[in-house]
Amino acid sequence: ATPTALMVGVGRAGQLGIVIKGPAALESSGVIDTVVLDKTGTVTTGAMTVAGVHDLVPGADDLLGLAAAVERHSEHPIGRAVVQAAAGLPGAGSEPVVEGFTALGGLGAEARVDGRPVLVGNLALMAERGVDARPAHALVDAAEDAGRTAVVVAVEGRVRGVLELSDEVKESAPEAVARLRAMGLRTVLLTGDNARAAARVAQQLGTDEVLAEVLPTDKASHVERLQAQGRRVAVVGDGVNDAAALATADLGLAVLSGTDIAMKSADMILVRSHLGVVPDAIALARRTLGTIR
Ligand code: ADP
Ligand code: MG
Repeated sequence: ATPTALMVGVGRAGQLGIVIKGPAALESSGVIDTVVLDKTGTVTTGAMTVAGVHDLVPGADDLLGLAAAVERHSEHPIGRAVVQAAAGLPGAGSEPVVEGFTALGGLGAEARVDGRPVLVGNLALMAERGVDARPAHALVDAAEDAGRTAVVVAVEGRVRGVLELSDEVKESAPEAVARLRAMGLRTVLLTGDNARAAARVAQQLGTDEVLAEVLPTDKASHVERLQAQGRRVAVVGDGVNDAAALATADLGLAVLSGTDIAMKSADMILVRSHLGVVPDAIALARRTLGTIR
């Protein structure tokens, strides 16, 4: 590639809301044939809302308040939604003592609230910690059938209840996926969320493939597997959970809402949250390379 053509490409990218971290990124994006899209916060707004609270032990202390106490220190969209939902409740303001908060990537979060260990997360987390989650199964099923994310809350090793979280596909996402497919690119939705919620989003988007319930540590492995099949892979992500996948990809695209770690691992930063910027970036790279060849 000639430096002049690349400079023109980088300049044009800036106008489109694409920040390119190196000229090599523009060159690799011209040969991409597969686009892996993270779900939460990338193709969805990430502005999740608590759509249901199911207390299995009514009369005990407030379920949502307990979950919010744990999630107060979380940067995950689920954590933010839980905290926001609890903020409007009576009793909000009587701050419990929270110690030892730990974010458990792809699983949930934990902390001690007023001395009691509280777990907030999915069934995989409950299984890992030996919590008998059977009392929650029907509620989890119902939530996931509705395309929502079920969050189980356990106190001192016992299930206390289930929260239902909903998220919405970005308005710009279906058209962006359609454009990518029209450009001959294979599209893959990749998420740590449950299979039913993922399938629902994949259907709304019209992606070629969907990979659900993938732990953060396994996201990069899926990218490597696609590469081993001879594919040149772009990953579009936002969260800290996507950093390894972004770095493994032939081209890492971070959407602006993303965390600092995602930004560092990416080759391009997409300044607009409008997903049309993804086909824009790849089309621009193809044109730039086309003018060189
Ligand atoms: P995605 O791949 O869609 O960005 P994540 O890998 O961030 O999803 O999360 C996968 C799953 O892990 C969530 O759907 C949720 O079940 C659980 N999870 C992760 N973080 C939290 C949290 N802070 N609170 C509750 N559940 C969480
Ligand atoms: Mg994410």
